[in-house]
Amino acid sequence: MKHQIKVYCKQEIPCNPCAASCVRGAIFKKTLTTPPIFDDEKCVGCLLCVANCPGQALFYINQEKGELIFPYEFVNRPDIGEIVNLVDEFGFILGLGEVVEYIEKKAFNKTTLIKVKGPVEFLEITRGIVKGE
Ligand code: SF4
Ligand code: SF4
Repeated sequence: MKHQIKVYCKQEIPCNPCAASCVRGAIFKKTLTTPPIFDDEKCVGCLLCVANCPGQALFYINQEKGELIFPYEFVNRPDIGEIVNLVDEFGFILGLGEVVEYIEKKAFNKTTLIKVKGPVEFLEITRGIVKGE
């Protein structure tokens, strides 16, 4: 699996910026109010859906490289190369990760994405980072 978008969306309100962002049809919705479905065969890893989701409900995972990319909107940014704590959806610390880069593109509509490297077993359950002590 080359690209993987982890979908955490449970929305049952009308919403579709993710599907509208994807010209490949790799993320789509059966109806406006059901959660999106991801097709890894079509995804090229452009990250547009991740950046354009207003609910920050989409995370990009590269299992081979041990990398996770998700929106990061805090002003207080850890440095590139800084070791941070990976946390799950409840804020529990899973383990350590390293900040690899911040990704900002015109097409991302002012959303900054952060790329973090971490243990493969934590990538699918990591939902954020907190700075270490
Ligand atoms: S990363 Fe790009 S190609 Fe992949 S699902 Fe998102 S918008 Fe589509
Ligand atoms: S844009 Fe985000 S919140 Fe809206 S349906 Fe897509 S994944 Fe869910």
